[in-house]
Amino acid sequence: MSKSFFPPQRTLMGPGPSDVSPRVLAALSRPTIGHLDPEFIGLMDDIKGLLQAAFKTGNELTLPVSAPGSAGMEAVFSNLLEAGDKVIVCQNGVFGGRMQENVERCGATAIMVQDDWGLPVDPDKLEQALVSNPDAVAVAFVHAETSTGVRSDAQALCALARQFDCLAIVDAVTSLAGIELCVDDWGIDAVYSGTQKCLSCVPGLSPVSFSERAITRIRNRRQRVQSWFLDMNLIMDYWGGDSKRSYHHTAPVNAMYALHESLLMVQEEGLEAAWARHDHHHQAFVAGIEALGLSLIVSPDARLPQLNAVEIPPGIDEAAVRRHLLQSWNLEIGAGLGSLATKVWRIGLMGHAANQQNVLLCLSALGSTLQSMGAAVNPDAAMAAAHEFYSV
Ligand SMILES: *Cc1c(COP(=O)(O)O)cnc(C)c1O
Repeated sequence: MSKSFFPPQRTLMGPGPSDVSPRVLAALSRPTIGHLDPEFIGLMDDIKGLLQAAFKTGNELTLPVSAPGSAGMEAVFSNLLEAGDKVIVCQNGVFGGRMQENVERCGATAIMVQDDWGLPVDPDKLEQALVSNPDAVAVAFVHAETSTGVRSDAQALCALARQFDCLAIVDAVTSLAGIELCVDDWGIDAVYSGTQKCLSCVPGLSPVSFSERAITRIRNRRQRVQSWFLDMNLIMDYWGGDSKRSYHHTAPVNAMYALHESLLMVQEEGLEAAWARHDHHHQAFVAGIEALGLSLIVSPDARLPQLNAVEIPPGIDEAAVRRHLLQSWNLEIGAGLGSLATKVWRIGLMGHAANQQNVLLCLSALGSTLQSMGAAVNPDAAMAAAHEFYSV
């Protein structure tokens, strides 16, 4: 006989999902109403306005796709690309590879601009690729590479795209509400994000936004979008401004309550204050990690505050450490991905989880665990460094 599921109380400091605040969980459990109920349509309008503020955009076509970040990625590529198009994809980690996969599945060609994992995308390499490929229609890159903890200079990359008359497509799954992201000022044409990273909402929704240039391209397609579910021409009629809301699919009503609440929390704190909070706790965490005797693989100027790639000390069974943290501390941290598997842990300070308690908990748990496994670390110095940081 199966029983009700009661999850353990974890602290989530991996690459996502991040801890969801009790306020958001409470919103999730409010009564379900119809997705065409006038009250729900009012909520959709409010969500759109809050998302526009979080993205810093006036884009009319701004909405949450009813599926996780990967679906937002797919929505952007499948709407903007047609068979035969050429797209420049900058890759410096796992998620750039998924962009390539999406481009190719649209029947388009991906011209890859590669940078080493752990480095930001090099604007000079992008410029060379743009010069060599004057027929490219778009440039795509990941703003915050969650697989390596690297921030690329989205503003510079978008400016190059614009200079060469390409659409700028940006993966902001991990950046939204965690680091500076200015969709309009930077000239981003299509952006997708997720709810489970720095918004600290439940997983399963993907906020997206399209510029007028992007919408013109979608409206003028020669072929229909291959995916019916993700076709923005149809979704525009469901989410559209003053037009009648026609049934497209049943929105995940309760997840929308949760998204709304998490966006309200960002609004109350202030977007810039949320960016600053991520940075503040990241600085404390780094001070502690370095005093512990470990290092981050990314150079300080390209580090993501919300995702810290920490080098694993020699001779340590990294999976055993994560298991111990989960079992004895109820603390989840992430493993490395791809070429960084077994080289780094990925420690998230995302959204609601970017706070002093979590920084101290993680330093303390990681320090004592590593010490018990014989690593040359100094847990007392780590705690002292973090406390020192917070006391000034
Ligand atoms: C997490 C993530 C995704 C995918 O989001 P899901 O919600 O897991 O589908 C895409 N891109 C980046 C950079 C991510 O960190």
